[in-house]
Amino acid sequence: MKVNTLHTKFIAIFTLFIACISAGLYSYLPAKLEHEAMIAIATQSEVIVEMVANSVSPALFFSDKKAIEDELILVQKSPAIEFVFVRDNDGKILSTIGVTSEHISDYLTLSDTNRTGVSKDGLLYFISTPIQYEGAKYGVVTLGMTIQTVKSEIASAKQTITIILIAIFCIGFVLIYFLSSFITISLRKMVKTAEKIAEGDLSQRVHIHTKDEIGMLANALNSMVDNLHKALVKERDLRQLKTRFVNTISHEFRTPLTGISISTDILETYYDRLSNEQKLDEFHKIKQRVTELTDLMNDFLLHSSLESMRDIFTVTSVDLEDVVQRAITDSERIAHSANVMINVHFGEKIPTLDGDPKLLHHVVKNLISNAIKYSRSGGEIFISLEFIEKTGEFQLSIQDNGIGIPNLEQDKLFTQFYRATNTSEIPGTGLGLSIVKEFVELHNGVISVKSVQNEGTIFVVTIPLKKVNS
Ligand code: ADP
Repeated sequence: MKVNTLHTKFIAIFTLFIACISAGLYSYLPAKLEHEAMIAIATQSEVIVEMVANSVSPALFFSDKKAIEDELILVQKSPAIEFVFVRDNDGKILSTIGVTSEHISDYLTLSDTNRTGVSKDGLLYFISTPIQYEGAKYGVVTLGMTIQTVKSEIASAKQTITIILIAIFCIGFVLIYFLSSFITISLRKMVKTAEKIAEGDLSQRVHIHTKDEIGMLANALNSMVDNLHKALVKERDLRQLKTRFVNTISHEFRTPLTGISISTDILETYYDRLSNEQKLDEFHKIKQRVTELTDLMNDFLLHSSLESMRDIFTVTSVDLEDVVQRAITDSERIAHSANVMINVHFGEKIPTLDGDPKLLHHVVKNLISNAIKYSRSGGEIFISLEFIEKTGEFQLSIQDNGIGIPNLEQDKLFTQFYRATNTSEIPGTGLGLSIVKEFVELHNGVISVKSVQNEGTIFVVTIPLKKVNS
């Protein structure tokens, strides 16, 4: 056991404490017992000796030795009285019962004038009192009371006290040992856990479930590690996001840039040999790549300014039907070149909505572009906008019969940079849907997706009519 541990200090201090208390009690209790027993004997003896003095006084007055002796025999029959003797005023012993010469010499050594006190061997208590008759003193009677029983009772009481004190000491020691063990074991557990955490193992937790201060300390330590863990996970996610951002930018920008570079090379090198139609085709390709780059740029800019978008979110009265119609018009050219047909259905009596027209336009346009992008040539898109009176909600659905989304990946689509595994051939950043979701939520709406791979996908946006918080 280490000497400077809290455990050892606890035990040492408390053991010393109990030892001091035990020693104090050991020296005080027996002495107090003896003192009180002696007071009791003295009081009892006083009463007896007075009684004896009264009973022998007439016999002494008449100098009737026989009568004195008879009285003394009666007195000595009491088991507590060892001996009794009577002296006259001159100190001459007139009558004795049970007295030995040792008793007498012991008695004479007592300094007290009344010759009251304990014999040398400590086994007898002497007490004397004058014998008076009608106001005059005729002698002194002395009793020798045995105190042996009292002494042996005190000795056995001392023994009992000693045993009790030793028991208290032992129980106290054991209790302190376990109590301090409990405290220090808990603290040591926490120290070990903290050391492991300091080494980087954030899965460590302290398992102490008591409701006391130790338990509170353990809880505080655990929640500190929880927070640290969350902060680190967040930091790691951010780092991953940044890496994906950079990777996506470099990858997605490279394809249209390479296309532009090839078309300009062809135009530069073979300009004279190309027909007007071929030249126009190359110019169109360049234009299309530039549009792709612009869209990409817009997505990235939107993504990086999402926070500020929330601040500039301006609410006006929006005609959602008009927003959808404009988004369709904007997408018609791409739909045409992808050979995809767009069908639209508007419900009756669509009220105006409180919202931001720019953001809503972005939502609809993005969902339509995705539907076109992930459709096969000859595919069809069905767009429907309705107002459901019963729930007071606008419902916009955009359905295609394109490549679909693998079942297990559908709930990850709204995460930044996430792209389904069946889209490797199709360019994209994985940013569009995360932005769309943000914008829909700014309008207190929700977006959901249902898809069957190789059969098609439907996105449904539901926005409540109720005013949104700007
Ligand atoms: P991007 O289209 O640039 O990859 P989005 O965030 O718009 O990014 O879409 C995320 C992913 O969701 C896409 O990569 C694609 O896997 C899937 N997805 C979105 N819309 C459709 C759709 N209409 N059909 C099939 N897959 C889709």
